Amino acid sequence: MNNTQQQFKHNLEQIFDFSLNFNQLKDIQRLFHEIKIRDQITEQQIISKLTVDQIIQNSNGRNKFVNIKRHLIDLRFPLSSKNQAIDPGQIFLAELKPSLTHIHPQSANFIPELIYIEEKAKNSYLSQRFTEKFPDTQVIIINNCLEYVKNNQFDLKDLKKPIVFIVQENWDFIKPCPCTKNHIGCNYWIFNLGFGCPYDCSYCFLQQYTNFPGIVLPANLDDFFQKFDAFYQKINQPIRIGTGEFCDSLALDYITGYAEKLIEFFRDKPVYFELKTKSNNISNILKLKASKNIIISWSLNPQSIVKAEELLTANLEQRLDAALAVQEKGFSLGFHFDPVIYSENWQELYQQVIDLLYKRLKPPFSWISIGTLRGTRKLKNAAELRFPESNIFYGELFLGPDKKLRYPKFLRKQIYHKMQEMIRKYDPKTPVYLCMEDADCWQTISNDLQSSKAVEKYLIADK
Ligand code: SF4
Repeated sequence: MNNTQQQFKHNLEQIFDFSLNFNQLKDIQRLFHEIKIRDQITEQQIISKLTVDQIIQNSNGRNKFVNIKRHLIDLRFPLSSKNQAIDPGQIFLAELKPSLTHIHPQSANFIPELIYIEEKAKNSYLSQRFTEKFPDTQVIIINNCLEYVKNNQFDLKDLKKPIVFIVQENWDFIKPCPCTKNHIGCNYWIFNLGFGCPYDCSYCFLQQYTNFPGIVLPANLDDFFQKFDAFYQKINQPIRIGTGEFCDSLALDYITGYAEKLIEFFRDKPVYFELKTKSNNISNILKLKASKNIIISWSLNPQSIVKAEELLTANLEQRLDAALAVQEKGFSLGFHFDPVIYSENWQELYQQVIDLLYKRLKPPFSWISIGTLRGTRKLKNAAELRFPESNIFYGELFLGPDKKLRYPKFLRKQIYHKMQEMIRKYDPKTPVYLCMEDADCWQTISNDLQSSKAVEKYLIADK
């Protein structure tokens, strides 16, 4: 126990005349920390609230700890505590750790510090592009990028190191989007073109994969295309597929040139191919002949959230400008309000984004998704260490049956209902769907969409 913890323990024990064991101290300290940050108040102000609580005053022994914790939970989750009894088992209270410093990339202009190229990919077009564009960057040829993992112990502070791995992908080509257990999916397919991202979003789930820094880019696109043809022969029905699950589809397109190859490959196929981004890197796309089955989509959030939580990404105006340019060129558009982040004025903030979207762009779009902030415990830990100034994980998030942190059901339903209402005022046609939600939440936006198959059909109908 460090000095600060000892002092904190001593103070509380003196004031409340009880004693705390290590686990109790850990919980209380964590709750104090989160309340201080989310409400911008001092330790003393929290103590003042506790000292006037009659139930705490009248309790003894272990009950005193239980009642202090209960009061702190009410302060930590003010909205939920007014709506429902809070189950302490659904609250995630990790031990406090010092945050990391100097870990965020400083510029959206990505310049690799090192380029690792797998032997089999050394003569590829992608290796050539990187070595021509960055002639001063050291290139290291390796047999397999897993060698790097074996020989370099990973530290979370290295996550965004500007290292590139150009690889020959051998097996991980196409897979179904895993969604989450007991939730309604949308039967989306992932074309696994890359892992890692030059941007730095505080809520990015890639932060929880903590054994690999940098960005992995496969060079053998022709193998992906062959695998896709073989896969498609088997399923032979329209599907939705995209690349933006483990990367941003366009963040590095000005170097990789992936978009052109993908669009040319998918343009006449009976599939809906999506490139999902927070960038405005569309110059390669604008050079191409448009096709309606190619959907360029943008994640949208209020500019205050973009600025605070989506570091180095294009701002909201830039994203909408880029969307307008690709729409005018003739491509289809999609939008993702994901994650919607709750705050007291969330409705006003998202209404402004929706007003702006429909002022600038002409519906209908291919689809709009809505998802609320969520993540594993590991993600919250990583985000807290990497983004000490962010308070989004100090929102009203509880552990669900799948052990992911989410806003409580009543709040999610309220958000989905309102978001859909705001969208529908402008746009009766665009299919609106939820990301990673259960049947109960889906009912707030539709009574008919109660299976993944039904959602998939809804999203690709009439296109
Ligand atoms: S743009 Fe997407 S992949 Fe990149 S850091 Fe943000 S959430 Fe992660």
